[in-house]
Amino acid sequence: MDSKKKQDEQSDVFAGFHAAYKSFATEAIHVGQEPEQWKSMAVVPMISLSTTFKQLGPGNHAGFEYSRSGNPTRNCLEKAVAALDGAKYCLAFASGLAATMTITHMLKAGDGIVCMDDVYGGTNRYFQKIATNFGLEISFADCTKPELLKAALKPNTKLVWIETPTNPTMKVVDIRACSDLVHEHNKDIIVVVDNTFMSAYFQRPLALGADICMYSATKYMNGHSDVVMGLASTNREDCYERLKFLQNALGGVPSPFDCYMCNRGLKTLHVRMERHFKNAMAAAKFLEADPRVDRVIFPGLPSHPQHEVMKKQCTGCPGMITFYIKGKLEHATTFLQNLKMFAVAESLGGYESLAEHPAIMTHASVPENERCVLGISDTLIRLSVGLEDEADVIEDLEQALAAAHPQKN
Ligand SMILES: *Cc1c(COP(=O)(O)O)cnc(C)c1O
Repeated sequence: MDSKKKQDEQSDVFAGFHAAYKSFATEAIHVGQEPEQWKSMAVVPMISLSTTFKQLGPGNHAGFEYSRSGNPTRNCLEKAVAALDGAKYCLAFASGLAATMTITHMLKAGDGIVCMDDVYGGTNRYFQKIATNFGLEISFADCTKPELLKAALKPNTKLVWIETPTNPTMKVVDIRACSDLVHEHNKDIIVVVDNTFMSAYFQRPLALGADICMYSATKYMNGHSDVVMGLASTNREDCYERLKFLQNALGGVPSPFDCYMCNRGLKTLHVRMERHFKNAMAAAKFLEADPRVDRVIFPGLPSHPQHEVMKKQCTGCPGMITFYIKGKLEHATTFLQNLKMFAVAESLGGYESLAEHPAIMTHASVPENERCVLGISDTLIRLSVGLEDEADVIEDLEQALAAAHPQKN
């Protein structure tokens, strides 16, 4: 094989970092969906809207009593997600933040949380502005350097919150290294990974040592930008029992209809994620080669600082790309205003391509000096590359770049 050809093949990361989890697609389609669970033998799970379930005698029920405590449609979804996370259990919540809130309620006043220094804005807001009012102590650490996480652990630390890759700067955390050092310090500390960006198809935090894997299912897991939902999976019996209690006791549960929708979204998760990866890889390579772009941050590119960690712990990359356009704020604004297929909108992970300006939109609540430290400048643009034709994705980026920089230099 000549060296040019070999090089081309090696740079074609879309071959996949490594093979998908065994039977992922089959489980996404079949686990929790058994027709035998319904009298009608329905192949597609039923939407069970009933809030209450008849008991044959007091306390003699068929597993369901009241829909907050347990619902047949929610059960189908929770079983499917547990299988996809390689977990024994999964619980569904009304939103990603409802899942975060419920997990945090496993702690009590005086307990400490160590959180990755760059997390979803709503997570940061919940920890700093709400959880602290209930006597929880929050500290932040840059978990891309596990030694900094180690230094942040205190005798009262009960929860470690990791998000990887982060939003929008795509910092990648070594989940195995962090989980191991935390559990060596104290095996009872609960390590949570927010797996929203990766989805169950590209990353399995529980297999890497984490105790709880949580999602905003609003993003890739549902994947159709039409449901707000949260999920939390675990293999730890104690964590499940406590979360199951809290799910019912706090009440942040999703509607049966939304459970139906998300369960349906999972059926194509593997197909969607592969296409997100393929389109994003092409878009990232295009942007990286373009002189009107300063820098591209995409964990699938060898230029990403933690690309090797990514290859080690993930099976591929989602459609999230961050890049710095050359110039100033006006160039970023002109680029965004001229996109034709990409919609300028918040959120991510749906079938449609979205673009946004974090400094003005999703991260406006982060104080400017903190934005500066995180690298969220006026020229930073975040893309959620959808499932459209690759050529159309590139064409839209190209023409919007041309509008921002009429002189290609
Ligand atoms: C959107 C998001 C959340 C919050 O989820 P909601 O469903 O909006 O409540 C949490 N973490 C990440 C990484 C997110 O992108």
